[in-house]
Amino acid sequence: MKYKLQAFFSGRNGFDDLGRTLMWGALILMIVSTLLGLELLYLVSLAMFIYVYVRAFSRNLSKCQAQNGKFLSWKQFQKQRFQQRKTHRFYRCPKCKTYLRVPKGKGKISITCRCCGEKFVKKT
Ligand SMILES: [Zn+2]
Repeated sequence: MKYKLQAFFSGRNGFDDLGRTLMWGALILMIVSTLLGLELLYLVSLAMFIYVYVRAFSRNLSKCQAQNGKFLSWKQFQKQRFQQRKTHRFYRCPKCKTYLRVPKGKGKISITCRCCGEKFVKKT
């Protein structure tokens, strides 16, 4: 039985970090939608479950790993942003959408984007 499962999952993506997070999100959405009686939300959670399983059984490893990599770097950025929320503020460049980190409590400052050189004024 164990070998059959291993053979079935070899070459497939399986449940990675993104899959597990989506699974928990779908589970929470399903519970909330059931408690509140929202049918549309329930359908969204079902679609999320289906997507999680499609990703888990997918043989397109490079695409799934790229998605998971993007998710992990986004998660890391959010974690860093949360840890530095008392000392820094994060702004997006209006031109190229890059996140820029500036020190908090400096009043109105002119921010220059390190990628495209765009300048904009924000209160920190
Ligand atoms: Zn920029």
